[in-house]
Amino acid sequence: MFDPVQVTRELIAFNSISANSNAPVSDYLQDQLDRLGFMVERITYQDDNGVEKVNLVGRKGEGQGGLALLGHSDTVPVDGWETDPFTAEIRDNRIYGRGSCDMKGALATMLAAGGSFEASDLAAPIYLVFTADEEVGCWGAAEVSDRSELLADSGLRYGIICEPTRMEVVRAHKGAVFMRGETKGRAAHSSTGRGVNAHLAMIPFLSEMKAIHDELRSDPRHLNDEFDPPFSDWNIGVNDGGIALNMTAPKSICTVYYRPMPGQDQEALLDRTRQAAERSGVELTIQKIGDPFSTDPDSDLVRTALRITGTQQAHTVPYGTDGLVFGRKMELILLGPGDISQAHTVDEWMDLDQFDLAIDAYKAMIRTFCV
Ligand SMILES: [Zn+2]
Repeated sequence: MFDPVQVTRELIAFNSISANSNAPVSDYLQDQLDRLGFMVERITYQDDNGVEKVNLVGRKGEGQGGLALLGHSDTVPVDGWETDPFTAEIRDNRIYGRGSCDMKGALATMLAAGGSFEASDLAAPIYLVFTADEEVGCWGAAEVSDRSELLADSGLRYGIICEPTRMEVVRAHKGAVFMRGETKGRAAHSSTGRGVNAHLAMIPFLSEMKAIHDELRSDPRHLNDEFDPPFSDWNIGVNDGGIALNMTAPKSICTVYYRPMPGQDQEALLDRTRQAAERSGVELTIQKIGDPFSTDPDSDLVRTALRITGTQQAHTVPYGTDGLVFGRKMELILLGPGDISQAHTVDEWMDLDQFDLAIDAYKAMIRTFCV
């Protein structure tokens, strides 16, 4: 008998913060998939720090199309916890622990729903996908997207990102672009006049970054009322590594996290950034993590999910998920147990009532798209 709360408890016991290897928690998930009758593909890679990361793609059933349930097995760090974040605790009808809400509880509900079907009853396959490194840039999803043999030529059209939405249907989220500009100078005691202050070249670039920031919040061409907030974030970070007051900065770094919205002319803004960098001698790297995704409110996927959850309207959210990557491959919604306001918090928890709601909804979605 599959007990989703017990499985959540066991998942929480693995410390799979993104800096660690998620191989142990993936071994556990792979074992669960095996027992529940899934064929499993394991896609591994080394992250930038040489740490082994593991993605799993499970498939049950044969044929084209079907439905994917997608989740990640890494969590955010655990600074500030007074209790052991990896020992789940149940009280007040809640399960507490790192990942209870984002999103190990959801992984257990995905397994429970997918595991409850016999392969022989399926006209199209169920896929369960567990990725690494969602919290730090969706690197695992990118590996799955590029390398999965089970997903290649699968004809898969529909996916559910099972991130916490309190089982409300979300049909769109913003994209993510990371930028990093750097200028170099020469460190010297500032009294000598012999240094080169790297910030001086950076300042005109920063002023252009601020201009774009302000325009994104005021120019109607950039706004989109479907989202709250209706503007794109252009979050500027500045640092020189904390150089002393009396030293010239040998380097100056500006980071920008841009969250594009559907319909926005991203390239125009990125071009402006490239030109500003060139004018100021800023060495710029732009890393597109993913585009925004937006699924038609009248699509089969959205309408079915609204009917099954007994809700009226699909929402949009301002943050990103693995949907940044998987949105290129399939139509997506976000639909999952737990409340996003609990994600990434100290003393993270999820209501126990959310488990059955999620399992029943996922089963009904599978019946519609796979049986
Ligand atoms: Zn998450």
